[in-house]
Parts: sequence; C-alpha cells; structure tokens
Amino acid sequence: MPLANADVAAVFEEIADLLEIQGANPFRVRAYRNAARTLQELGASVRKMVADGADLDALPGIGPDLAAKIAEVVRTGTCALLVRLHKELPPAIGALLAIPGLGPKRVRALYQALDIRSLDQLRDAAQQGRLRGVPGFGPTLEAKILEATATRLAQDRRFPIAAALAVADDLLAFLCRIPDVQRAVAAGSLRRLRETVGDIDLLAAARDGATVIERFTRHDDVRDVLASGDTKASVVLRNGMQVDLRVVAPESFGAAWVYFTGSKAHDIALRRLGQERGLKLNEYGVYRGEQRVAGETEESVYASIGLPWIDPALREDRGEIEAARARRLPQLVGREDLRGDLHVHTRDSDGRASIEDMVAAARERGLTYLAVTDHSRRLAIAHGLDPGRLERQIDHIDRINATLRGFTVLKGIEVDILEDGTLDLPDSILARLDLVVGAVHHRFDLPRAKQTDRVLRAMDNRHFTILAHPTGRLVDDRPGYDIDLLRVMRKARQRGCFLELNAQPTRLDLTDVACRMARDEGILVAIDSDAHSGLEFDHLALGVNQARRGWLTADDVLNARPLPALRPLLAATMG
Ligand SMILES: [Zn+2]
Ligand SMILES: [Zn+2]
Repeated sequence: MPLANADVAAVFEEIADLLEIQGANPFRVRAYRNAARTLQELGASVRKMVADGADLDALPGIGPDLAAKIAEVVRTGTCALLVRLHKELPPAIGALLAIPGLGPKRVRALYQALDIRSLDQLRDAAQQGRLRGVPGFGPTLEAKILEATATRLAQDRRFPIAAALAVADDLLAFLCRIPDVQRAVAAGSLRRLRETVGDIDLLAAARDGATVIERFTRHDDVRDVLASGDTKASVVLRNGMQVDLRVVAPESFGAAWVYFTGSKAHDIALRRLGQERGLKLNEYGVYRGEQRVAGETEESVYASIGLPWIDPALREDRGEIEAARARRLPQLVGREDLRGDLHVHTRDSDGRASIEDMVAAARERGLTYLAVTDHSRRLAIAHGLDPGRLERQIDHIDRINATLRGFTVLKGIEVDILEDGTLDLPDSILARLDLVVGAVHHRFDLPRAKQTDRVLRAMDNRHFTILAHPTGRLVDDRPGYDIDLLRVMRKARQRGCFLELNAQPTRLDLTDVACRMARDEGILVAIDSDAHSGLEFDHLALGVNQARRGWLTADDVLNARPLPALRPLLAATMG
C-alpha cells in the first residue's frame, strides 16, 4: 500500500498528541508537529525520497532522529515510538482524541481530573454533568461531546467472544505448526472471557521471534499488517478483527502470559505486591535486582509473590487477589459440571427440531436431562402454546420418557410474564409441569418500580421456578429493562426459586457482575442454552465462561446437580 506524505504526517501528529497527553516536554511535542507540517507541505513524495536514499535531514525541522523515524514509517507503516505510546496510554485515548472538540490538552485534562480513559467513561461523565466542572469545559461543549460520544460508541466495533474464540483457535493451530514455536496461546480480554473483544491477543514461545512473526504476517487471512518487528506484530484480518501477536523466549513465557492477559488493574496489583517483596515483575520475568527468580510459568510468577495461580476469568482486580492471599479462590464451574439444561425450545413453538432430536443432541453433549420450555400463547409470533397444546406436549413427553434410559425430559414452559405480573397460562396447567420458566418479552419500557413489581408478583405464583434472561439485555445492543435485580434476587431466595444465566451469545444475561451478586445472595443460577436447535447446546460453554467471570462454582449452579438432587429443589418452588 503506497504511503502518501499525509500518512507519514498523520503518524507524527499522533505521536505529538500522545506525547502531549502524557505531559511530555513541549519542545519535543512541537518538533513532531513541525515535522508533520513539513511533510504535508513537501512538494516531493517522501516515499520516493526514502527509496532514493535522499537526505531527509536536509528538510526544515528534520534532524537525524526524525529522518530515521520517517524512513521507519515509510518502511513499516508505523513507528516503534508510536506503538510504545499506545501501550503506555489507555487504548481508547485515540478514540477520545477523535471526538470533535477534544484535543490533546482537553483529553489530558479529563484524564487527570476525572480519570477518563474510554469513550464509555466519557459518555457517562457527560451524561452525569461532570465534564462542566473541569477547567476549559462548559455545558455547551459537554452536550456536544455527549452526542458525539454516543454516536461513536454505536459505531465502535467489538466482536462477540464466540467469534473471536473461533478465529483465535485457527490462528493458534497455525502458529503451533511453525517448527520453532513451543507454545501458542490466547491472552488479553479473550482469555479473560470477556463478552466482547476489541482485538485478539496471542502469545507464542519461540527462540526465533522474527521467523514466527514473518510467517504469521503472511497468513492467508491477514489483510493488513499494521506493525511488525522481531517480537511482535499487529495485523488486521479479512473479517476486520485486529490480532496482536507477541513472541517471547520460553523462559519468559509465564511472565509474558500473565502480563498480556491483564486486566491492567490486575497486573498493577500484582506489580505492587512484587514491589512489597523487593521484586520487579514485567513481561520477561520476575527479578530481584538483576537476578531472575521466576517467569517460565504463570504459576511461578504468582508463587513469587506468595499467591496461588489465579484463573484468568477472575483477573479483573475485583477481589481475586485478596481471595488468593486468603487461599479462598472459588473452584470455578466448568462445562463438564453441567448435567442438564433447563430452557430448551422445540418445533412445538419456535424451535427448529423435535423433542426427540433435542434429546439426541443433548445426550451427545453429555447431558442427562433437559427441560422442554416452549413459548406460551401470548407470543403468537413464536407459535406459543395454549393450554390444550401444552397438554398434548406433556402427554408426548410422558411417552418419550417411557422409552428413554439414563435420560429424562422435564416438562416445562417459558411462560410470558404479563404486564401486571400474572402468568400467561392458568395455574391448573402449570401445576402439571416439572418447572415453570418465567420471562419478560414485552413492555421493556416500564419504569423501574413497576418492572420490578411485575417480576416480584410473577414470582409469587407458587408454580414459578426460574426467571429467564432476567434483565432482557442484549450484548452490546440493548441495555435491558430497568429492574431492581437485588430485590428480585432476595425475593427468589425467599421463594426458593432461581435465576437464569441465558447462554445465547446475543444475551449472556445475567452479566458477570450479576452472577457474583447472585452468589453473594445465595441464589442458585441455572446456566441454560435456550437452544432452538441441537447445535445451540454448544452455547452452554459460553454461559459457563460468563459464570466463571462471575465467580460461580458448581455448587452455585442449579443444573450442575444430577436429577435426583435437582428434583426436590424444583418441587420446593412448586410449593
Ligand atoms: Zn425468552
Ligand atoms: Zn427461550
């Protein structure tokens, strides 16, 4: 891709912006700005000048250092200094700078005064009217920023974890086939199992980094190479995902894996613990003075600061370090702990498979029970069941169960919670079921008090068992209805009913934070696929990932119980 002078100038402008945000020497900042202007006003093509070996430091304002950087940008498309600045500053700083009205001075002021590091934080602060308190900001600018930020956030491209995991798996397999590569793994937010990821971080252990980088950047799926060197590369794939690869020596692998898995807050906390012990932690190892004391494995890094290994799903600095110190880390639930699925659709409503096919698919995936929970009549668009059709389904399930060995189909319904909190089907038919999954599918706009009362009232129904997708949120799309989740949880505990973690990739409802809240409140969570076809049982793994981020153990998960232990819990709610 031919680089125009303006492209090189843009790199220098960006360096100047980032240096200014860091509070660098103003003369240094100005040197980069002047160089950018020189390049823009230059009559000749800088790319051609570099190719011809012309004397760049003869240009006005360009010394030997800047001349070398120009050549570097022309050759690689970026510059080590810029890459370093990006690493030193919060990743979203560039996005902040792109908001109209926000130059480097104002971004720096927001960073310093309100610790604003991302568009999310900027939008929240603007919404809460906190920007106007910062020198240089007023209500008008605040309103303008709010609007621009909201628009930008809507466009901001993040990828669902499921898509990113699949892409990462392919790339890791590719890396592992390179002879020198001893290990290749995912790091970053992907490894922490965040719901969405902005980019994919990969890490490889090899002696010869340059060769690995070279092979990686020539992978068929790579569309653009943003940067590449002896130990790292940033590329954009054809599907638009950015992938950053680091290659480290095998003896540094564990230290690098900790370092690049993050989160930033977790890493900072680890380094602080290290300092208390006179140790320095970085991506190469753990050092006492010049001497390396750990780094080959993650375990060795954590052990050097007196901690057991911490699961990546917990590395958010939300109490995991304290828990590790106290040897009270939770034994997180795994996919293999799930015994059944309590929210499944069939062809009788909007599913795409028969009950028999769903049973076969569930068995293939190691489950021993599933609950058929088709929609109720209000959801006419989903062909919801009325009492008569539900009766027939119940009889059908009885006949199926009579033929099954080692597997049980539970009779259920995903019943709509009506606006007044009553359920969409009469108690007489609900009484015939093993469980009743209640769901809000309409009137998301009710005010908080009304929405909360609606759900509490539904839970008062003696047949109510599980609250499906408890907030109605859609990942990165719809924030969910306004509801007092804590009151809902306390009601659930009092009533002996349960909340669902819906594992549909678009839902992942409950969030990690809400899972943790449920655990603290002593509520069991049902990790359900809400499968509409056999393949969708695979979503259970995503639900488990989310549950792990929410600190859930197998004990906290309703459907980690074998059927004999589950039955009395379901019966208790049926009062
Ligand atoms: Zn639903
Ligand atoms: Zn459903």
